[in-house]
Amino acid sequence: MSIKVGVSACVIGDKVRFDGGHKRSAFLMEDLAPFIDLVPVCPEVGIGLSVPRPTIRLLDRGETIGVRLVETKDSTADYTEKMVAFSQKKANQLADMDLCGYVVCAKSPTCGMERVKLYRENGYVASEKIGVGLYTKELMERMPWLPIEEDGRLHDPVLRENFVFRMFALKDFYDSMAEGISRRAIVEFHSRYKLVLMAHSPADYKSLGNFVANIAGHEINEFYLEYRTRFMRAISNHATRKNNTNVLMHLQGYFKRALDKKQKAELSDLIHAYRKGNMPLLAPLTLINHHLNQNPDPYLQQQSYLNPYPESLRLRYGL
Ligand code: SF4
Repeated sequence: MSIKVGVSACVIGDKVRFDGGHKRSAFLMEDLAPFIDLVPVCPEVGIGLSVPRPTIRLLDRGETIGVRLVETKDSTADYTEKMVAFSQKKANQLADMDLCGYVVCAKSPTCGMERVKLYRENGYVASEKIGVGLYTKELMERMPWLPIEEDGRLHDPVLRENFVFRMFALKDFYDSMAEGISRRAIVEFHSRYKLVLMAHSPADYKSLGNFVANIAGHEINEFYLEYRTRFMRAISNHATRKNNTNVLMHLQGYFKRALDKKQKAELSDLIHAYRKGNMPLLAPLTLINHHLNQNPDPYLQQQSYLNPYPESLRLRYGL
């Protein structure tokens, strides 16, 4: 399996930063490397800037002019138009490549995804909350379904798991349509992600369920596009302990007849230990997978919730 993932070139170790350095991500280049096919882009080099180069930043020039990408020491050197044109062209190219994720470099006025410093004319920081790098802003607008994450945030186990999970889910979605977009392919895909949706967003579980139930009344290509965006947005919500507990109890119900009293008590204890935060999610899931091997059930076996990505990534250890 090779999952196409866009990436800020400095995050793979290319020495393209303003100071000639890089920001290599070990997680991306070592742990994820066997599963992904990287598409590196350095937008600043892409618009013709040199390495090394003067630092640039986002400058808020007020309501009429807006946010500009300028050199820190010479705000008349303005790269906004060049960067927007480059970003729009690149985002269009990437949108045709079935990318399944994008890792951007944090804090950069070009690649940062959030909390990029936005300066005022007087040199003070206007806000660290709303600034988004110009390139990444275009990516997010052109591909609202695409999982995008910053390199630094991948150190957080919850954010990391959610990002990787979404990447694998999107790849699965594209693979499911490999023989052509069809109602059947979408319904089957949706069916495999029911427990996932229950865990990530019970509200979307219901509304997407209704949407899919009425698939026959929609033009299939329009349905595909809307479903992709709504599904990817739904799973970008983190699966809470409470929702995961509900899914685990739902799964437990499938083994009502197959397990004896002692086995049932053992599973209940593990679920409650997880609910209280005394066990990782992996503990009850491992036992459920074990019972599923002993008592095969076609509906459960195809549920992505039970095996969303290769175990070797060890992403559920910290949840
Ligand atoms: S943050 Fe983006 S623009 Fe800056 S060096 Fe890295 S890839 Fe290039």
